[in-house]
Amino acid sequence: MTQRLSSDLEPLRKISVQEAASLNNLSEDGFRRHYGHLIRQVSPRRQAVNLADAIAIGEPLVRAMAGLPARRGGCGASTVRVTPRATVQPCVYWPGGGAPLDLLLDLGPDITNTDPFAQARGVPSACKGCSYVGTCGGGCAGRRRLLHAVDEPDPYCRVVRGDCRKLKVQMVRSRELPKLESACTTIVTAR
Ligand code: SF4
Repeated sequence: MTQRLSSDLEPLRKISVQEAASLNNLSEDGFRRHYGHLIRQVSPRRQAVNLADAIAIGEPLVRAMAGLPARRGGCGASTVRVTPRATVQPCVYWPGGGAPLDLLLDLGPDITNTDPFAQARGVPSACKGCSYVGTCGGGCAGRRRLLHAVDEPDPYCRVVRGDCRKLKVQMVRSRELPKLESACTTIVTAR
């Protein structure tokens, strides 16, 4: 999703298998092995991969790389996970048992002032000077905490590896979808 499409492919929003592999940092063989279900035979001698249009991007790092504005709400700010054990967490990926549900009943919206929620909103020190920090905020705090590295940049961040390529993403009109506001994921249309 990071390279310009060749002019003959752009109107069709199709890319060659080789381009798709390159965009995913895979060899063509690797792409065929892992993503064979995405490859379409478009003529007797040509195969292609259809690009999807994004309806919503909740993943902070992907939002930033796609040049989208910061997301409102999200983990640590406006979503609360209630677990089957009757505990609360700031994020579905947050490790540990969580705080007792009573705390949410007592505090209501002020649950976001508790330590786990503050941690989920925290920005890693190394991210403070990053030009994407306003949107990315250090990436997924749950992922960082799972790796015991809540004060490190998101492990999927390629900026820290010196790769600042932008993602080329085609957005379409958003629509009401369950959990759209709390899901750190990318939702795309089928073609
Ligand atoms: S350095 Fe930090 S703020 Fe910048 S893109 Fe990476 S994770 Fe996000």
